[in-house]
Amino acid sequence: MSRFWSPLVHTLTPYVAGEQPALPDLTKLNTNENPYGPSPRALAAITAETTETLRLYPDPTAHRLREAIAKSHGLDANHIFAGNGSDEVLAHVFQALLKHGKPLLFPDVTYSFFPTYCRLYAIDFRAVPLDDTMAVRISDYRQPCGAIILPNPNAPTGTALPLTEIEALLIDHPDQVVVIDEAYVDFGAESAIPLVAHYPNLLVTQTFSKSRGLAGLRVGFAVGQPPLIEALQRVKDSFNSYPLDRLAIAGAVAAWEDRAWFEDKRDRIVATRERLSAALRALQFEVLPSAANFLFARHATLAGAQVAAELRSRAILVRHFPKPRIHDYLRISIGTDEECEKLLSGLADVIASLK
Ligand code: PMP
Repeated sequence: MSRFWSPLVHTLTPYVAGEQPALPDLTKLNTNENPYGPSPRALAAITAETTETLRLYPDPTAHRLREAIAKSHGLDANHIFAGNGSDEVLAHVFQALLKHGKPLLFPDVTYSFFPTYCRLYAIDFRAVPLDDTMAVRISDYRQPCGAIILPNPNAPTGTALPLTEIEALLIDHPDQVVVIDEAYVDFGAESAIPLVAHYPNLLVTQTFSKSRGLAGLRVGFAVGQPPLIEALQRVKDSFNSYPLDRLAIAGAVAAWEDRAWFEDKRDRIVATRERLSAALRALQFEVLPSAANFLFARHATLAGAQVAAELRSRAILVRHFPKPRIHDYLRISIGTDEECEKLLSGLADVIASLK
């Protein structure tokens, strides 16, 4: 604390990102990265960009990337906003679209950046509890509000809503913006992007960090009708008119276009997830149904914090959230089959040692 801080800074509770320790031989299953990395075509495009054009400023509109994304959905580039990871896109969304005097609704439990952004931008919010199965229940959102934001699949729980329920929400709230954060959608949920043409109140965000294996490049985007995109553009241009650098634009375009790599790695991750889920159940874990590249699971008898700490001492990292309702759960990212085998033998060892 310092007397030089502006008053707002005292009120902030910053988001705590998953750790990125530089330990040797770590089995790192704590931040939902893609174990297979990006398409080789993305790496080649990044390298080519380095030697040719890095002395020049990037295109502030990231037009190539927006066009590539738009085209694959039958839309124009003016339906796409690109930013430095979907966290930055979401930061602009909160500032530009979600402050309307009435509370913003989102689930309790959800992506913990949401209350953080609300405090940063002084947005009133109401967190709507998950149902008894830890799923989002759409009928609970039938209440007056300024706007709604939902991750689908939700995080860190991994459960997904069908598109019919998202559509019901859009119909229920024609005068409110409804944001669907689809960071994990490629691993088994239905994207709401096909609804964008029909609903002027819908904005969908996605990322290159998970299914495209490019968390380090920092590329995310939003899809919506042009008036919503224009609001984001105004905030961006008032803040930083170059969010995406040349490497990010080149790498993301190539990654987007390499559909075969994307599908192959996605399918592998989904298959590993299903095997891991069954193996965790056999170790007496309750595992929530996941449509994401992670599992959310709790052991029948052991405390989440203790299991996470014991795994860490065996160089296996998973994510534990010391929060009400979820403190006994572990969020386990889907790694390679080999990494998941290491996790399972580490867990068997931990369980035997704690009994
Ligand atoms: N939304 C959700 C639900 C997430 O879990 C994450 C990753 N932490 C993000 C958005 C942001 O991802 P990125 O900034 O890497 O695109």
